[in-house]
Amino acid sequence: MVIAKARAVDGPDKPFRAAEIKRRDLDLHDVLIEIKYAGICHSDIHTAHGEWGPVNYPLVPGHEIAGIVADVGAKVTKYKIGDRVGVGCMVDSCGECENCLKGEEQYCLKGNIQTYAGIDKYGEPTQGGYSTHVVVQENFVLKIPDNIELDQAAPLLCAGITTYSPLNHWKAAQGKRVAVVGMGGLGHMAVQIAHAMGAEVTVLSQTLKKKEDGLQLGADHYYATSNPETFEKLNGTFDLIINTVSAKINLDAYLSLLTLDGTLVNVGAPAEPLSLNVFNLIGHRRSFAGSMIGGIRETQEMLDFCAKHKIVPKIEVISAEQIDEAYKRVLASDVKYRFVIDVSTM
Ligand code: NAP
Ligand code: ZN
Repeated sequence: MVIAKARAVDGPDKPFRAAEIKRRDLDLHDVLIEIKYAGICHSDIHTAHGEWGPVNYPLVPGHEIAGIVADVGAKVTKYKIGDRVGVGCMVDSCGECENCLKGEEQYCLKGNIQTYAGIDKYGEPTQGGYSTHVVVQENFVLKIPDNIELDQAAPLLCAGITTYSPLNHWKAAQGKRVAVVGMGGLGHMAVQIAHAMGAEVTVLSQTLKKKEDGLQLGADHYYATSNPETFEKLNGTFDLIINTVSAKINLDAYLSLLTLDGTLVNVGAPAEPLSLNVFNLIGHRRSFAGSMIGGIRETQEMLDFCAKHKIVPKIEVISAEQIDEAYKRVLASDVKYRFVIDVSTM
């Protein structure tokens, strides 16, 4: 068993503190990973603050994990010591249901096992990547391409796949007009991926403060949603809108921006229910949809796509001491565009 150094939180309003957590002995198909970097996703914040429901504290968040294989179980075939690997939002699933068999383990009918705040198949609570080590069964470990640095790879494991998957599913491509709502961790990945897929990309941000970055990342247009004229001008424009906003938005205003048969996909996950006027769908055969991360096969495809197209997140590397401050800055939309914890500072 490995005792990992970690950063844990004890309650919704509590600061992070140093902690030690046990990582299980390697089962036959397990991989021990020495974590080098862990990204901070807004989902970590929703969870740590108890917004999505009751949490078993102490909690160690972190589902954007990049590191090096330190040991492997007796029957592991996919990885060897020294490999550069990643782990995203899930660490296991039933492997047998219809959805798992399709490679959509995130939609496992028995519920996937989340990287943190879950219960693993041994009945133990899972703890995430704000720690020095993690043990994960090999099928849920990803290979990080050689030309992506480990610190930049970390955010791809959630922000990358969560935006790649709906862009892929709803076929963002040349001739398609795609809007990305929110230029945060997910949003700035969506812009780059949609651009690389060939779509015409528009960012819809609260302000124009990040316009230069958005255009540099591949956006063709950039509008402020605080300006009501934006909604008049863009009425009926987009084939696909990816909403990454972590808070409640006026869905009807955004639905009105879709063209005939257009789809608004919510990946943002605010705790509050969202409501909409169905006439906004009926009138133009529009769809409102949701999407959760992506399957393991698709996650590897996304990593390879990013490597091929030289897509990486813009990151700010922080020490373990700075997690609370980073959370505050994410909540204030003051992040360019992902905080990544240097785990050597644990
Ligand atoms: P983030 O970095 O905080 O980005 C969210 C962006 O939304 C902000 O940068 C801001 O962009 C915009 N925004 C924030 N508050 C807003 C408000 N009140 N009104 C309008 N816009 C606002 O967060 P993230 O890590 O990208 O995560 C975004 C959301 O996706 C979270 O809810 C997270 O839990 C969820 N998520 C879902 C999945 C999934 O599988 N579906 C996976 C990962 C994360 P501007 O400054 O440009 O306006
Ligand atoms: Zn996430």
